[in-house]
Amino acid sequence: MKKYLCGVDIGGTSIKIGLFDIDFNLLERFSIPTNLENHGSQILSEIAFAIQEKTSFDDIIGIGFGVPGPVFRDIIQKSVNLGWERVDLKKEFYAIIKRDDIVIHVSNDANTAAFGEYKHGVAKGHTNVAMMTIGTGIGGGIVIHGHIVDGVNGVAGEIGHMIVDHKYDFLCNCGKIGCLETVASATGIIRVANYKLKNSNLDSALRNYHHGFSAKKVIDFAKEGDLLSTQVMNEVADYIATMFANITYTINPDIFVIGGGVSLAGDYLLSLIEEKYYPYALPFVTKTNIKLSTLGNDAGIYGAASLVKP
Ligand SMILES: [Zn+2]
Repeated sequence: MKKYLCGVDIGGTSIKIGLFDIDFNLLERFSIPTNLENHGSQILSEIAFAIQEKTSFDDIIGIGFGVPGPVFRDIIQKSVNLGWERVDLKKEFYAIIKRDDIVIHVSNDANTAAFGEYKHGVAKGHTNVAMMTIGTGIGGGIVIHGHIVDGVNGVAGEIGHMIVDHKYDFLCNCGKIGCLETVASATGIIRVANYKLKNSNLDSALRNYHHGFSAKKVIDFAKEGDLLSTQVMNEVADYIATMFANITYTINPDIFVIGGGVSLAGDYLLSLIEEKYYPYALPFVTKTNIKLSTLGNDAGIYGAASLVKP
């Protein structure tokens, strides 16, 4: 009898795979490097191989995939990170494993992370969930009454590419300017800090880092009261809060979940965002939960596996 659910979270550098029992206890978690050669043409067969090394496909009820890029009806429209263009993942994976008794579902990676938090993490019990993952880029996912909102092109919930900035005109990976990702991701934080270092005379410990610095450095210095770093983080929080307020007036979520590497800034970042969010959300909205992800890096595999058995 089949006994496992499998969640696969495909990233640009590594692929995380989780094996769960039907009660969603995580039995095993492993990862393989993402093979980007030949436009990522070996990625799916390497995933199949890695799963098979752990267990037989005879035991697997279904496999869910989270993929970086817009997904519509199981087809990945385009994934810049993987080099994929119009990949019919479901069809290709079935062709590799040569069996049709396994359920396969595919969604965008940020959508699966949001779904994971909704089913098993901090957003459990909430009905309208908006999640933002802040790392090198910014991902977003929206779940309403148990359904991932993906839209007609699979780009719904792509919070990172909503336009908030009309000041810096930094170029986004997507080709546009003004995206939230350009000013509030880890790379965005560094960009804004560098801009201020160049265009102001404010004293800052960052000026001692001649060979560059990380977003974490900016956050750490801001926590210590460094003036320029504090300005940067206030601005970053303001962009995020603006976006949250706009989402509030679109879907009125009862919880915002923040995940990704930058969320390690923790309560400091949360309180900055909260402080700026409420003035924007008032007068109609006076209470919305803004919480940090509890599943962390595992949100994607939990969510992907949950696509199979929602
Ligand atoms: Zn963009």
